Amino acid sequence: MTTAVVVGSGPNGMSAALRLARAGVTVTVVEAYDEPGGGLRSSTDATVPGLVHDLGAGFHPMLIDNPFTQEVDLEAAGVEWAWPEVQFAHPLDTTTDPEGGAAAYRSIDETAAGLGRDGATWRRIFTPLAEGWHELAEDALRPPIHVPRHPIGLVRFGLQALMPASVMARQFRTERARALWTGIATHGFRPPSVPMSSAIALMLGASGHRFGWPVAVGGSARIVDATTSLLEGLGGKVETGRRITSLDELGSPDLVMLDTGPADALRILGDRAPALTRRAYDRWPTGSGAFQVSFAVDGGIPWSYEPARSAGTLHLGGDLADMTRAERTAEQGRLPDLPYVLLGQQYLADPSRCVGSTVPIDCYAHVPTWWSDGDAALAAVTARIERYAPGFSDRVVATSVRGPEQLFAENPNWVGGDIAAGLVTPLRLAYGARPTLSPYDTGVDGVHLCSAVTPPGPGAHGLCGWNAAGAALKELAKR
Ligand SMILES: Cc1cc2nc3c(=O)[nH]c(=O)nc-3n(C[C@H](O)[C@H](O)[C@H](O)COP(=O)(O)OP(=O)(O)OC[C@H]3O[C@@H](n4cnc5c(N)ncnc54)[C@H](O)[C@@H]3O)c2cc1C
Repeated sequence: MTTAVVVGSGPNGMSAALRLARAGVTVTVVEAYDEPGGGLRSSTDATVPGLVHDLGAGFHPMLIDNPFTQEVDLEAAGVEWAWPEVQFAHPLDTTTDPEGGAAAYRSIDETAAGLGRDGATWRRIFTPLAEGWHELAEDALRPPIHVPRHPIGLVRFGLQALMPASVMARQFRTERARALWTGIATHGFRPPSVPMSSAIALMLGASGHRFGWPVAVGGSARIVDATTSLLEGLGGKVETGRRITSLDELGSPDLVMLDTGPADALRILGDRAPALTRRAYDRWPTGSGAFQVSFAVDGGIPWSYEPARSAGTLHLGGDLADMTRAERTAEQGRLPDLPYVLLGQQYLADPSRCVGSTVPIDCYAHVPTWWSDGDAALAAVTARIERYAPGFSDRVVATSVRGPEQLFAENPNWVGGDIAAGLVTPLRLAYGARPTLSPYDTGVDGVHLCSAVTPPGPGAHGLCGWNAAGAALKELAKR
């Protein structure tokens, strides 16, 4: 019997576990927290009892149809997707933009129509990527060292992806198109002026046009329920409340998959870690932190920009210059006056999450790593929302916050509140934690890294784990 232990039950731990279990391996997943799921947990007691809040990922454009979910049928296992009318919106002051913002729909044409004279540019950037999504995914979401299946498309994507988002933004003539574009790029927790920040905007934007930005009905934890039951059906199991600190705690499985950050991976590998691994993991840079806020709001947020009232995701960042300034300020260790805030209105697609007229809102601001002044951060988040939705504060019924320290206490991968599990750099997106031929290789036989620190990087798509398990099975076959 071939056995594996997966350390960590985030989306990448579970996708790795499922790929191994489907290949006949007996898999045990061990999770530090007292609930499984990592960045896919939901809660019904964060604010008003019964209100469903996503505590991590809420939107799943890249999970709908990727190499993992093409093989593992989440819908058959109980996941139901629901889409908001507007996929994402970017409110602006009317002094910046007379219409007060911009919005992206699943349809590129509808989005382009709202962008006026920048509509053609939006169409030119996203149409080939959305239409050719499967070809793009076959190359861009696979382990980096491979013979490209669609070299021309990959080169075309790569030339744009390498660029800073702020440079790509120069193709737009209006402030609102620039803001809509940069708002997606800033998901990467970096100033839009850094190289390869366009890659995030291209992938998230194209997948949004291809699949929308859907939510899981009942909360993202339904995805965890589905992957757990699929694993159990294949003879595997998930154990919670057990933080692993050494390989010696795992017995002697044939394979170990680490859905951990480099710091925990290094602790677990201990003396067995080769010098090159030790050096790379030790030097792994931490990115800015998140300050997460769940609000219970009576009657929803009174956005001034009409399409924002129908939008699943809101990017509250102001214009390109504002987002650049806010991200730089957070990286320099200061709280921006108006931080970039990513806000989710999942309930619009899934009204079952509400209690009467009270709706759940989950958002997070980009703040400095280990930022500890929760009052200041909450005031900044509230001011950010109030600016585009006067009267918001009067509708708030209950609030709960999770600052960087609490995020780290819940998940060892989120060092300093860094929910991207490390600074998002071009090298990281290409090679993961250390440049080798296989980014999942820890340098210790049979032990593979499978978390979001490996390619294709952060997001609840499960592809890091899926790719890592593929590499592990190849290694197993060679033994
Ligand atoms: C507030 C928030 C909003 C987000 N929004 C989105 C979104 O809308 N869409 C999207 O695609 N992504 C989103 N993300 C990002 C996404 O959740 C992560 O990129 C994804 O969860 C990473 O998956 P993972 O499996 O690599 O790691 P994680 O989900 O972090 O899971 C790692 C697991 O391993 C466990 N673990 C770590 N070390 C040990 C150890 N030593 N022993 C035992 N267990 C251990 C942790 O406790 C954790 O459960 C969001 C994240 C957060 C926090």
